[in-house]
Amino acid sequence: MSNKIQAIRGMNDLLPAQSPVWQYLEGTVKDLLASYGYDEIRMPIVEQTALFKRSIGEVTDIVEKEMYTFEDRNGDSLTLRPEGTASCVRACEEHGLLYNQTQRLWYTGPMFRHERPQKGRYRQFYQVGVETFGIATPDIDAELILLTARLWAQLGLSDSVTLQLNTLGSNEARARYRDALVAYLSERKDQLDEDSQRRLESNPLRVLDSKNPETQALLTGAPELHDYLDDESRADFTQLRAILDAAGVKYEINQRLVRGLDYYCKTVFEWVTDKLGAQGTVCAGGRYDGLVEQLGGKPTPAVGFAMGVERLILMLETLELIPPQVMQTIDLYVCGVGEGAAMASLLLADELREAQPWLRVQTHCGGGSFKSQMKKADKSGALFALLLGESEIAASQVTVKDLRGGLEQATIPQAELPDWLTEHLN
Ligand code: ATP
Ligand code: MG
Repeated sequence: MSNKIQAIRGMNDLLPAQSPVWQYLEGTVKDLLASYGYDEIRMPIVEQTALFKRSIGEVTDIVEKEMYTFEDRNGDSLTLRPEGTASCVRACEEHGLLYNQTQRLWYTGPMFRHERPQKGRYRQFYQVGVETFGIATPDIDAELILLTARLWAQLGLSDSVTLQLNTLGSNEARARYRDALVAYLSERKDQLDEDSQRRLESNPLRVLDSKNPETQALLTGAPELHDYLDDESRADFTQLRAILDAAGVKYEINQRLVRGLDYYCKTVFEWVTDKLGAQGTVCAGGRYDGLVEQLGGKPTPAVGFAMGVERLILMLETLELIPPQVMQTIDLYVCGVGEGAAMASLLLADELREAQPWLRVQTHCGGGSFKSQMKKADKSGALFALLLGESEIAASQVTVKDLRGGLEQATIPQAELPDWLTEHLN
C-alpha cells in the first residue's frame, strides 16, 4: 500500500520504548508537586478562540501565527490550546475557585502551536504547568523557583540549567519604560530589521528579545527597564532575590528577558540550557497579576510557570541521566509448556501478584517451545523467568532461571516462591 495515512507533521507518537522515561519524569514531577501541597486540575484541550486572544495578546507570536483555530459545526471559533494558563484561569473563574481564597494548582497535557518542527520544537508538545492564585507577595514567586530547582536536583539536571531572572515592574512602570524605549528605537528605526520595526509599533518590549545581533547591539545604548521600576516591584524583587540567595539558588539577572506573552508583570524567569541547541528554554514563567481581571474576574494576583516535557526528556537522554531501573519494567516472565501449562502459568502469575502486588509479572501467552518462550523472556527485559513444565505442575513446583545475573537455575515449591523472590529481587 503506497497511500498509508501518516501522522501530522510535528505531532509525535510516543512509542512503548519511550514511555518509561515519560512516566519517570511525570512521576517525579507529580510527587514533587504533592510534596509542596499543589493540587491537580484538568482542563479541556479546546477552548473558545477569544480566550487566547484576550489573554495571550493579539500581537504575540502565538496568536499571530501559531494557533490551531477552526470553526466547529456550529460556526463557533475554537482553538486547540497553545498553552494552559488562560484555560486554567478560565476554569478557576468559572468554578469560583478564586474568590477569597488561594490556589496552588498544576496540570499536564498536550499544547498545540503551528511552528516549524525541529528538535525540541513540535506542533503538539507537552507541558507541565503550575499556577498559583491569590498571593501577591514574592514568597510565592520564590517557592515556585525553589520547587523547580528541587526538580532539577532530583533529575540530576542542576549543573545543566541556569536561571534567568527579571522583573518587569508594575503595568504602569512598564508603560513608562515602553514609551522611553519607543522614543529611543524610533530615532534608530532604519537600523532595525523588519520584524523589530513591526514590533516597535505593536509590542515594543518584544524588540528586547530579538535574536538579531545588530538589534541586540543597538539595544546596549537603550534605556534600561530597571531604571523605571516602581518601588513595590523593586522591593519585591529584592525580597525574591534574598530568598533565592538564602536557599543557594543561583541566577543571572537579565533585563532583556520580557517573555513573549502580554500578561506578565513583575517577576519573570526562565530556566535555560546549552545542551539542546537553539531550543534552550526548558521552563518559563512569571507573575500575571492582571490576567484574571482581564478575563472578567476580580483582580487576583497570580504567578506560574510551564515546562516543556519533550525538552526535559531530550536533556535526560542526551546527558544519560535515566536511572537504569526506570527502563526495567518487568520483573518476571512466566513460561509454560505442555498439558495444562497455559492455565497453570496464568494462575501462578496471579497468585504472585496477589501475594506481592508490587511485582510486575508477564505471562507468556500463545504457546510455543521452551526455546522460543525463553527468547521472549529474554527480550522482555525481565530479571527472572519462571518455568512450568508438566513435571513442575504435577509437583506444584516451579523452575526459576536468572536471566541477568549468575544465579544457578533452581526448582523450588511454588509456595516458597514469594519468599524466594523477596530475597532475590532487591
Ligand atoms: P520558545 O521561546 O522556545 O518558543 P516559548 O516562550 O514560546 O518558548 P512558553 O510559551 O513559555 O514557550 O512555553 C513554556 C515551555 O514550553 C518552553 O520553555 C518550552 O520548554 C516548551 N515549549 C514551548 N513551545 C514548544 C514547542 N513548540 N515544542 C516543544 N516545547 C515547547
Ligand atoms: Mg515560542
